[in-house]
Amino acid sequence: MAFEGLTGRLQDAFSVLRKKGKITEADIDEVMREVRLALLEADVNFKIVKEFVKNVRDKAKGEEVIGSLTGGQQVVKIVNDELTELMGGELQELNFSETNEPTIFMMTGLQGSGKTTTAGKLANYLRKHKKKKPLLVAGDIYRPAAIDQLKTVGSQLDIPVFEMGDQVSPVEIAEKGLETAKENNHDLVIIDTAGRLHVDEELMDELAAIKTSVRPDEIFLVVDSMTGQDAVNVASSFDELLDITSVILTKLDGDTRGGAALSISSATHKPIKFVGTGEKLSDLEPFHPDRMANRILGMGDILTLIERAEEEVSEEEALALAEKMREQTYDFNDFLDQMKQVQKLGPMQDIIKMIPGLNSIPGLDDLDLDDGQMDWTKAIIYSMTEEERTNPNIISQSRRRRIAAGSGRSLNEVNGMIKQFNESKKMMGSMTGGKGSGKMDSMME
Ligand code: GDP
Repeated sequence: MAFEGLTGRLQDAFSVLRKKGKITEADIDEVMREVRLALLEADVNFKIVKEFVKNVRDKAKGEEVIGSLTGGQQVVKIVNDELTELMGGELQELNFSETNEPTIFMMTGLQGSGKTTTAGKLANYLRKHKKKKPLLVAGDIYRPAAIDQLKTVGSQLDIPVFEMGDQVSPVEIAEKGLETAKENNHDLVIIDTAGRLHVDEELMDELAAIKTSVRPDEIFLVVDSMTGQDAVNVASSFDELLDITSVILTKLDGDTRGGAALSISSATHKPIKFVGTGEKLSDLEPFHPDRMANRILGMGDILTLIERAEEEVSEEEALALAEKMREQTYDFNDFLDQMKQVQKLGPMQDIIKMIPGLNSIPGLDDLDLDDGQMDWTKAIIYSMTEEERTNPNIISQSRRRRIAAGSGRSLNEVNGMIKQFNESKKMMGSMTGGKGSGKMDSMME
């Protein structure tokens, strides 16, 4: 999980303040020494750390923090605000074409940063959320298989891919791609480009030529967040030569220490607009600096969790489930579906950390919150017959023994799981105003 070490260290630093009554100037200095070390260890660029610490210290000393009984909380708030600023302040919207011409996005970045995958994720995201009709353009003619990779992404999403093989110049591919988009009424063109292992002049010249030729509305620099503060050098070079418009940080689901996320906007003055949070083509989220600051400080991020749920579970599915609960026809097949939906939101350990308050519970990391438990619960259900799944009341002791043997779990586990299912069904029934309950109804009146 991203930022884990940083979050832990910052929480340790602030816990010292929490134990104090009124805090003094010396307390602030001590905490800021810890914050400084925590940021450096997270691989944030040292100049940025220096300025950050100075800003927080000045604000903390300037405001009425010293001598106040809630001084500790105020320092945390100042750090939160400054972290938000460091990452760009507010969510920044995309630049779309203001004319009737299609919007043109160009993906740039080093090889392996996630350009091709992110081109697909963006097309998918904008088709869904902005009703765009995207065309993907295969402009990486150097990496073997890059064109095929984009075509695979396109076919998974059912989004067309324009390609001209690898014997035509990328500028011509971009131009022809744009013409094709216009002919076929696409209002969004996303051009994938070549990356190298390092910034190199020839490549930059080629990217600059594409830029001059098609004049993109956005030039995204795709950056692997695992590269830490090195990302700053890469971003600065790309920015100098191409004047990028924004950054997309990928692989935020990995155990990045945070350096790239925290250094890149302030070093380039270009906003991070999206983050990649997994390998699936739906794993792309708009970047909200304030929510990210909350996450870094271990305060959770409930808004993103809700959005993820909305993304993964359709309204129809949710309504159908509510209806089943109300009608008390909720069975093991529904239970299975619901478990699969929860698993789509991400690993349990990550979901828990997005819930405010839960992530600061000590020892949570060691807790076996495991997705394994869901897996064996599923195994038990898979060992039931269809009749047992739709009509749980018929599951007698002998059936339970057979299910236990079939799923490789103990009889106790099978009994416990069925008991839990019955209890949640009863509880959900009463919450949704199911038959014979009326509890929630009377509360709502
Ligand atoms: P390109 O060379 O820049 O086009 O990079 P690719 O799109 O081929 O991505 C390189 C690898 O990173 C692939 O295995 C992707 O699946 C993976 N990847 C891209 N974005 C993410 C992300 O947000 N999270 C994770 N876990 N993997 C990613």
